[in-house]
Amino acid sequence: MKKYDLAIVGAGPAGCTAAVYAGRSGIETIIFDKGAGGGLLSIAPKVENFPGFTEIAGAELATRMVEQAKRYAVFHPNEEVKDVKKEGDKFVLSTTNGDYETKALILCTGSLHRKLNVEGEKEFLGKGVSYCATCDGFFFKDKKVAVVGGGSSALIEAIYLKQIGCKEVYVVHRREVLRGEKILQDEARKIGIRFLLNKVVEKLEGEELLEKITLRDVTTGKREHLEIDGLFVSIGVEPENSLAKNLGIKLDERGYILTDEKQRTNIEGVYAAGDVTGKLRQLVEACAEGAKAGLSCAEFLGRGYPYL
Ligand code: NAP
Repeated sequence: MKKYDLAIVGAGPAGCTAAVYAGRSGIETIIFDKGAGGGLLSIAPKVENFPGFTEIAGAELATRMVEQAKRYAVFHPNEEVKDVKKEGDKFVLSTTNGDYETKALILCTGSLHRKLNVEGEKEFLGKGVSYCATCDGFFFKDKKVAVVGGGSSALIEAIYLKQIGCKEVYVVHRREVLRGEKILQDEARKIGIRFLLNKVVEKLEGEELLEKITLRDVTTGKREHLEIDGLFVSIGVEPENSLAKNLGIKLDERGYILTDEKQRTNIEGVYAAGDVTGKLRQLVEACAEGAKAGLSCAEFLGRGYPYL
């Protein structure tokens, strides 16, 4: 079994930053990702609020973060950690490629897209339903699409879809008031995105591909059909906490990992950082938590100094 001081699960912004800080403290670190790394950042059309970058494509920033992490840690992409067990004062990770033993663990497993859970959503996945405009938007050029959700992510997706040439872009939101940043709301209105407020999606229909959705007005109860080719679901995220649950890590009532100010969980040697802790859910926060988790590991493994 291969042995490392530290394993980081997830190579999104939090995991990559943790790798940089741990690696620079002289800790032998391995970082796993079930994909190529970069997390949700890699599918963000553009980022405008990360200090130092006025505007940068999410994929580019994500690639830079992964490349930087690789200077300090062994990177195993496309290798999913299926289970982690605590054996004495060690951790044994079982991945899709083998078993590894480590002295410490940082969980940066991020979050998963929330589902609408309405009729037709599963059936039309990949046939009109998508959870990622950057990944699938291209197929809907010159077509009519709707984005569900009222947060910043929904607005960013809608703006992106309009900019790549979708014929008509609607934002369907269940309330009168949008939750997303004001600057994004203004931009969406300016470029002609149409808002369908106080509406919920009840049903998706079509022959082979998605053709229409049923909307219900939550104030009047009235139903209407909207003919569209694509439905982008952007209604927030849920924590990816399955490894944490298996290890017996304490979660809050929403399922996010509970940590202290040093990113420590209730299990000694296990830390968590990034979206899986459910804090601000901003890139800078994920990186800050990753840095703290990396430094805390250094302290735990006797290679760092008390930093807080
Ligand atoms: P979010 O802010 O939690 O918004 C989710 C939206 O989906 C809300 O408008 C919510 O409605 C709606 N929703 C939730 N469940 C629904 C359901 N079952 N049916 C219909 N609508 C539903 O999620 P997000 O936009 O993914 O953003 C997540 C976090 O990342 C936020 O903290 C956000 O600020 C941050 N973020 C920031 C940026 C940026 O800084 N530019 C970009 C992207 C994301 P209600 O409003 O009624 O609750």
